[in-house]
Amino acid sequence: MGRQSDLLAEATRHLPQGVAENYRYWGEKTVFVEHAHGCRFTDADGKQFVDFRLGYGPIILGYRDDRVDEAVYRALRQTGTTTGFATPLDHQVVQQIKALCPQIEKLRFANSGTEAVMGAVRTARGFTGRDRIVIVEGGFHGLYDEMMWKSDVEGWDGAGDPAVVPFGRGVPARTRELVDLLPLNAHTALEALFAQKGERIAAVVLEPIMGNCGSIAATPAWLQALKATCEAHGALLIVDEVKTGFRVAKGGAQELYGVYADLSTYAKAMGNGYPVACFGGRAEVMDVIGATGGVVHGGTYTANIVALAAAHETLDLLAHTPALETAAQVGRSVQRVLGRVFTAAGIEHRFTGPDAMFGVHFSDRVPTTYRDWRRTDGALYARFAWQLIEHGVMLEPDSREPWFLCEAHRDVDLGWLEDLATRALREALEASS
Ligand code: PMP
Repeated sequence: MGRQSDLLAEATRHLPQGVAENYRYWGEKTVFVEHAHGCRFTDADGKQFVDFRLGYGPIILGYRDDRVDEAVYRALRQTGTTTGFATPLDHQVVQQIKALCPQIEKLRFANSGTEAVMGAVRTARGFTGRDRIVIVEGGFHGLYDEMMWKSDVEGWDGAGDPAVVPFGRGVPARTRELVDLLPLNAHTALEALFAQKGERIAAVVLEPIMGNCGSIAATPAWLQALKATCEAHGALLIVDEVKTGFRVAKGGAQELYGVYADLSTYAKAMGNGYPVACFGGRAEVMDVIGATGGVVHGGTYTANIVALAAAHETLDLLAHTPALETAAQVGRSVQRVLGRVFTAAGIEHRFTGPDAMFGVHFSDRVPTTYRDWRRTDGALYARFAWQLIEHGVMLEPDSREPWFLCEAHRDVDLGWLEDLATRALREALEASS
């Protein structure tokens, strides 16, 4: 029993599960971080990890990036944290985002991805005068009631459609009435849903590259069809780029597809780990905010100086240095390493998604929907991941969470990774036999 077990025992007396949010609870393997820098961190037992989990995606440059941290200190010394008034940084950061994301004409800030999605959805409802929202199976859009309905693919027997269930208790059944779930890449289901309810749908919210479902991606044809269908029915398209934004390309997933949404949400990579988020899009839509009788949006900490100074510096670095190319390049190398290890062991595998946020699936075909994901060997993946963690490579032991790369991964020793991955896979296979 190490220090981490003692910390967890003590913390459990003070926080539910001993952690600050549910997803950090890993039972007796719960991690307490002592020190972090670059792409590495050390836990409270003194064990060092190369981290491909990166806090679920916000770290794009590296932990404790001096350039971003110094910019935050400078801003803090000038204006403090928040005054409840505007600062010139507000529109400067919006201009930076507009330079990278051509579909953004106007924008508002938020403090988390959840809050950005809430703002976008309310704005879409305010603009269209409609209430219904469509989400895509396998997507994740934060912990707010209406977005907390999911297709129960894990409990599905493969016949008909999976049941739609809440994430947990406390989600009012009434919120379900306004939400429809749509499988990714399913043309017929898309047409059928809009034929039935199209005139009542305010917006479709999706991650075109599902950062919460193993980077399973929309086909360009389906995304185009989705946009056209929304347009034809007067519904808005909301692309949730909380994970993909300023990571998979400077202009996010939309740049890769060349398909642009009415509203987009961003968070995570835009602040290299500082808590900042935003939503924005067409001026005509966004201008429903603040109009007489229009949409109300705000919050005490919105566009606080820490958040905006971090975003200003991070976006500047992402726009004007090769940081994203570096992260993608290492991601390609890591996939090559893993691919060699899996092939040598005779394990069928497929990689999905962009190089700086790739998914790994033990399967003989690329999954194209959340339902397909169920046919991959997630159990073997989990055993492999736990062994990697044991040997000092951190990742989420669930193949629905992709591998995240940051600029600081450029110094990872790929030979070391290949040896560890070989060992971890051998141990995972031994455990299965
Ligand atoms: N949207 C997406 C696509 C996400 O991945 C997440 C978080 N993982 C959220 C929204 C919610 O963001 P936050 O945790 O910052 O509230």
